[in-house]
Amino acid sequence: MKLPASYDDSRRKFRQLAAKAGATLRTYDVPGSTPEGLALSTDTALVGPPDATTLVAVTSGIHGAEGYAGAACLCRFLQAWPGRHAGSGVGFLLVHAINPWGFAHDSRVTEEGVDLNRNFVDFPHSGMQPAPYEAFHRMLVKEYRPLPGGWRNQLELLSHGLTAPRRRALQNAVTSGQYDRPDGMFFGGFAATKSRGVWEQIVRDTIDGRDRAFLLDLHTGLGQRGAGELMCDLPKASSRFMQMADWFNGRITSMADGDSVSAALSGTMTGAFMRSQSQGRHAIGLEYGTSSQLVVLDALRADQWRRNNAGMLPPDQEQRVRQKMKRAFAPADERWGALVAARFDEVMAKLSTGMANHSSR
Ligand SMILES: [Zn+2]
Repeated sequence: MKLPASYDDSRRKFRQLAAKAGATLRTYDVPGSTPEGLALSTDTALVGPPDATTLVAVTSGIHGAEGYAGAACLCRFLQAWPGRHAGSGVGFLLVHAINPWGFAHDSRVTEEGVDLNRNFVDFPHSGMQPAPYEAFHRMLVKEYRPLPGGWRNQLELLSHGLTAPRRRALQNAVTSGQYDRPDGMFFGGFAATKSRGVWEQIVRDTIDGRDRAFLLDLHTGLGQRGAGELMCDLPKASSRFMQMADWFNGRITSMADGDSVSAALSGTMTGAFMRSQSQGRHAIGLEYGTSSQLVVLDALRADQWRRNNAGMLPPDQEQRVRQKMKRAFAPADERWGALVAARFDEVMAKLSTGMANHSSR
């Protein structure tokens, strides 16, 4: 599976393939522009019976640069659609670039500087006090400098990666989300972002009113390289977790119970989707591993540094950070792409069967 060259290239391909598959296309304009000055949008394609009582939504690019692989998966689905899924009776809603600004700028965050997948909370929101993130902000952000200047800071970061318990402690403290520091990492925002508003509009337009809806949210950057872990916000004892585990032969993990490669997170889109209705809504994240945790974290630190110095960095420094983000979240590696594609096909096949059986009960 080949990844698109850019956000704009990806959007063009997605629209073309959607039109070819006979999908209903919708474009939601998002304020802001690409680095080349082009307009931004979140695009959706609906295939299958328009009034299907069961709908599967697949979203890409909630974390910007993770959209390269996510969008490639959506395009793959549109190509396979007529032969593989059209007969299932299930509707499929494919969402291209839920955070188009981050995708176009090779960043994880939205134009507001917010981690969109920590933004689905009720505001005002204070999170855990004091936020566990505080203990790491100095090392991760304040003292970050690119190499070679930042070598001492790099060594300090590496010391947190020496043992598995230390790595996990760092990950739990940092990635769970914080709501105090807009200049810090994994910032969930002071208010709902524009992209959250777009997603909620998409839900009102196309998902509300269906008997059953499943949300599959695509991510990259966490876990073993090429593996695709299905991770759920809910504890294993919940009935919805058990239902989903059944569809995927038990191969899903629980962020709440701590057996996932992800920490327990606040403000996720999948969590909010299930909270919005107690019945008939299921959601899960599919996370593809790319590089080691420290390599990914270091790219995110560079991304934050770029953001905190916006407009002050020479263009070659900007480019270097973008390249670093691309390498960490969208590796240009054919073997990796093949693993991602195969796992995606497997998940969609299970989902199609699971949802079709579920709706006929
Ligand atoms: Zn992600």
